[in-house]
Amino acid sequence: MSPRTSAPLELLDLDSTLSEEERQIRAVVRQLMDERVRPHVAGWYEQGQLPARELAREFGKLGLLGMHLTGYGCAGASAVAYGLACLELEAGDSGIRSLVSVQGSLAMYAIWRFGSEEQKQRWLPAMAAGEAIGCFGLTEPDHGSDPASMATRARRDGDDWVLDGGKMWITNAPIADVGVVWARTEDGVRGFVVPMDTPGVSTQEIRHKMSLRASLTGEIVLDGVRLPAAAQLPEAVGLKAPLSCLTEARHGIVWGALGAARDCLETALTYAVTRTQFGRPLAGFQLTQAKLADMTVELQKGYLLALHLGRLADAGRLRPEQVSVGKLNNVREALEIARQCRTILGANGISGEYPVMRHANNLESVLTYEGTSEIHQLVIGQRLTGLNAFA
Ligand SMILES: Cc1cc2nc3c(=O)[nH]c(=O)nc-3n(C[C@H](O)[C@H](O)[C@H](O)COP(=O)(O)OP(=O)(O)OC[C@H]3O[C@@H](n4cnc5c(N)ncnc54)[C@H](O)[C@@H]3O)c2cc1C
Repeated sequence: MSPRTSAPLELLDLDSTLSEEERQIRAVVRQLMDERVRPHVAGWYEQGQLPARELAREFGKLGLLGMHLTGYGCAGASAVAYGLACLELEAGDSGIRSLVSVQGSLAMYAIWRFGSEEQKQRWLPAMAAGEAIGCFGLTEPDHGSDPASMATRARRDGDDWVLDGGKMWITNAPIADVGVVWARTEDGVRGFVVPMDTPGVSTQEIRHKMSLRASLTGEIVLDGVRLPAAAQLPEAVGLKAPLSCLTEARHGIVWGALGAARDCLETALTYAVTRTQFGRPLAGFQLTQAKLADMTVELQKGYLLALHLGRLADAGRLRPEQVSVGKLNNVREALEIARQCRTILGANGISGEYPVMRHANNLESVLTYEGTSEIHQLVIGQRLTGLNAFA
């Protein structure tokens, strides 16, 4: 960035509210992205690839996997520190943040919160180190926003469980060592820790994605998968168990989306200052400044919201509908910022030489997963009115 420009997230000096430890964690993740991700991510995106195992090991060494969890090799960081890490990861690419979110906030959190001691010892240290990769299977081909209707079944056979069904759009599935899979039993929804090499489990990578290309997404087929009784998550009872995992992961998205937006805005700002048309820099036109000012205002508001929710989480007072407010606002605004930045870059805005279109495309997935915008509007609407408008 040119010395005469000012970083959009510094305008209100919100960083002054961060602790030294929070700043340090952020600086470490930013440096990791600069060295390990930024130089390569455009190529991974174009090729639809991600060296996920390699990255997971590096992230594990830095304590980024399950970093807000305690014990079992996890770092035990604050929710705000975890959020700042997500922001920096997603400033690299939403696919990188997805890798970390699914591992830490979905798969590891489910085992940490609902698992037996044996399940925790077996999986969490290896997952924290990035030696084992996890996925979280809730969505099905015919059941997305309405997981209560899931068709995957788990039936008892002696002491064993037998799982049949399928999961769709599952991040990390093509390379996962372990899946937390949700299935309907006679007693309602239950969770299972499924080693992905169990006979009857197969995965197929979903290709031709136009969004989140630097992320591995797959379908999981479960065909008579026999698991011992000990594979069931003992503390997970009913649909509220997977939904609580999603609340956990959404908190990371509230922060992460801001990272994608910040990267777009910094790129557009630098571009607008250096690109000349009609004899002056684009940044010198009032219309461009209005865009830059409005985007910066939204970015700062989103950051304030994330900080507030993070502090609530650290105080143990964060409620699911509050996370819905954050996810709805911050992803929606981040996408708007990415699209607006795209206009400032003109034709270059659609080029993979710049990160803006990649972020904009990624944010389309982020808008949809972990509860679509419409579902979060309904969550907030229900809280306001007391009326359930879902079905
Ligand atoms: C890249 C990617 C990665 C993903 N990773 C995972 C993962 O790791 N694990 C996992 O379990 N899932 C994952 N998902 C799935 C994701 O959570 C679902 O796509 C999401 O929940 C929406 O479900 P759906 O796509 O079936 O859309 P649908 O539920 O069919 O919805 C389609 C549209 O209808 C709207 N709609 C639905 N119901 C209502 C209603 N009652 N009122 C108003 N509008 C409504 C929705 O908001 C949406 O706009 C991933 C998705 C993507 C794209």
